[in-house]
Amino acid sequence: GKVLVTGANGYIAVWVVKSLLDAGFSVRGTVRSESKAGHLRTLFASAGDKFEVVIVDDITKEGAFDAHVGDVDAIAHTASPFHLKAVEPDELIVPALQGTLSVLHSARTHAPKLRRVIVLSSTAAVVRTNPNPAETLILDESSWNEEDVVTTREKGAAAEGGVKYRASKTLAERAAWDFVAKEKGLGWDLVTLNPPFVFGPFLHEVAKPEDLNTSANTWYFTVKSTLDNEALANNGASWVDVRDIAQAHVQALLKPEAAGNRFIVSSGSFKFQDFVSAAHKIEPTLPEGNTSYDPSKAKFASKFDNTRAKTVLGIKFRTVEETTKDTLEDFKARGWL
Ligand code: NDP
Repeated sequence: GKVLVTGANGYIAVWVVKSLLDAGFSVRGTVRSESKAGHLRTLFASAGDKFEVVIVDDITKEGAFDAHVGDVDAIAHTASPFHLKAVEPDELIVPALQGTLSVLHSARTHAPKLRRVIVLSSTAAVVRTNPNPAETLILDESSWNEEDVVTTREKGAAAEGGVKYRASKTLAERAAWDFVAKEKGLGWDLVTLNPPFVFGPFLHEVAKPEDLNTSANTWYFTVKSTLDNEALANNGASWVDVRDIAQAHVQALLKPEAAGNRFIVSSGSFKFQDFVSAAHKIEPTLPEGNTSYDPSKAKFASKFDNTRAKTVLGIKFRTVEETTKDTLEDFKARGWL
């Protein structure tokens, strides 16, 4: 089958393309400009005519994808801004929401062979405040992040960067589910994949560490130690290896029973010191970080239940050690360590 991957030059998307090609799919990737296409063509040259790149310069335009979906069996929509520096909420919300809707509109009217659409959402669309901080809150796919949407509506530009980003992901994913719920007679179904922080090696085009995408950038500067000991031991979240979220895309196309589901694709919880410790062990020239940190005492306000991704998609998640080792090798090969 043939898969359209939007935003194919992104950190996660390049791994999605690679995994799809490795699994035997043909891939058409979209990028915003010709300057983003060359690296991909070189990277996937060995796929021959099973890989091509097309330019969609503005994903928010109605009909933006009409010309590119006529022969595809599936779509993986990944293009969406991920950064925490937006001033106006619409800098994030418009491309996230309108981009998703324009993919779905083209899918409805111009894709006769289409069977499934995957929208790459985020646990940003799942998280909520723990009402009882004494106990860890376990979140599954039934949870929706309403809070950040409300805060963004109330505070506008004054809302925190992370709040605005999470609102954009919630609004985009919600719009996708609303779309398939109200459209009758679609020949295809929807799956959303909801990863937390995505770490691991990278294949996309990056000139220097400062230019890394938001999550890989965070990881790099963490193991190079820019956080104080307090933050290393107390700050963290959940994470997944980029190759595991890429594999989740492949499995979401191969498993009929994935239809109509959200999937939290999370390996587990971490404090930043977990990655600092793992990195230091492999590469002793890297900082030790907080030597009094005890992982068995780490407290988490919330954690994710990843049962559905394991049972339905069959994902076997990489460990902190595996991801750290492979990522350091990558950085080393570039002379960044
Ligand atoms: P990248 O920044 O590496 O990739 C983002 C992709 O989206 C690029 O192709 C980029 O194109 C495109 N894009 C960004 N803004 C726009 C816009 N306004 N219009 C059209 N295209 C745009 O990030 P990731 O690979 O990390 O993120 C990919 C997806 O994964 C996003 O949907 C993100 O929300 C989601 N995600 C990421 C997580 C992470 O930790 N990395 C965690 C959970 C979800 P260009 O290069 O032209 O800017």
